[in-house]
Amino acid sequence: MFGTSGIRGIYGKDITPELALKVANAFAESDVSIGRDTRESGVPLAFAAMSGVLSSGNNGIGLGIVPTPLVAFATMKFGCGGIVVTASHNPAEYNGLKFMRKGREISRAEEKRVLERHGKGMEYGAEPGERRVENVIPDYMELVKKNVDAKLIAKKKPKVVVDCNGAGAVVTPYLLRELGCGVVSLNCETRGFNRPSEPNKENLSWLSSAVRACGADFGIAHDGDADRCAIVDERGELLNADVQLALMIEEELARKKGNVISSVESSLIVKETVERNGGEFVLTPVGSVHVSEEMEKSGAVFGGEPAGEYIFRGGVLVPDGVMAAAKYVELYCSKGKLSALAGRFKTNEMAREKFRTSDRANAMEKIMGTLKLEGKRETGDGIRIDGEGYWVLVRPSGTESIIRLTAEAKTKELLDKVAGKAREAIKKAV
Ligand code: MG
Repeated sequence: MFGTSGIRGIYGKDITPELALKVANAFAESDVSIGRDTRESGVPLAFAAMSGVLSSGNNGIGLGIVPTPLVAFATMKFGCGGIVVTASHNPAEYNGLKFMRKGREISRAEEKRVLERHGKGMEYGAEPGERRVENVIPDYMELVKKNVDAKLIAKKKPKVVVDCNGAGAVVTPYLLRELGCGVVSLNCETRGFNRPSEPNKENLSWLSSAVRACGADFGIAHDGDADRCAIVDERGELLNADVQLALMIEEELARKKGNVISSVESSLIVKETVERNGGEFVLTPVGSVHVSEEMEKSGAVFGGEPAGEYIFRGGVLVPDGVMAAAKYVELYCSKGKLSALAGRFKTNEMAREKFRTSDRANAMEKIMGTLKLEGKRETGDGIRIDGEGYWVLVRPSGTESIIRLTAEAKTKELLDKVAGKAREAIKKAV
């Protein structure tokens, strides 16, 4: 039932109010705060989840429409569990449930426990719990303000177009206005979506035009639950995801030296930026849960994945698109035009291929034995080899019967050579 990030699927088919009721009941070992994104199916799901919590005898805290990081914040503020009704960047017909505790998504071990309890059926407390409603937005905004140079932003007063298209609409435009930005809001209604949820180039054409038309300094976009943040420069160009991540890593390492956590899919740009700025680069399996766990373990200063999901030391332990938005505002105020900052990075040659197989586990085992390339080997999530000027990742898909090959290298020749060797090893194994 659980995927990389909670439970997700099509509303009415995979994800129903009945499921939300039962899983929330199984999850409720303590009080639980519940928030949702702007999907209209979130209304019945959030009420069902609330009912599941209250029937367990625990108290429920209704947060209304809020980004995922604010539910994480509520779990820290109230010392309770948290449920977010969202399907994140997935299309509008999807919905889902994310579970949190102590500012982060629950561990794989707790997911297992929830499944076991869910399997035993509904558990009713002696008396129903109490429901109350809380507004965590003001306290959360204070937390973000403490993490940026508010004085500098108030002095520079940048002009920003904010395209929320989801739960970010209740926070980001207000936060940036309070910080002193001139904010133009786009897609900031709180019912449904106006564009597809994923903040990619195709879906951000309105934002790009709006940035140019308003003569704004840059644009900010979120996905449906605002744990992601994507940046468009003053020319309306969406920043390359790796470059955007590298810019933030420079900032965070300038604040404090230490480990930077990223997943096995992160690029050479990211790795080199960490090393050039005196940080230690640590890789985890794909997924923010792993990045967050590793951050805790190694006391890292920052964790981020190229999808625009960044975890900040001073904030909550889930990706926080709202905090990221404020940090890019600060970055612009201290360093200037984002197009110029991004232009300093040179993107490399990349190869992405997929191979069909009937037995992913068996194929991976063979590849582990036969793939010989020079470099540091990581085998936490498929196999990644980091060599001089390149990296290669061979990883089974989580959902499809395929093995994926990703490779990046400084030159075309080197890419052909290393991707060729990996391709050979995979073809023999599938
Ligand atoms: Mg998301």
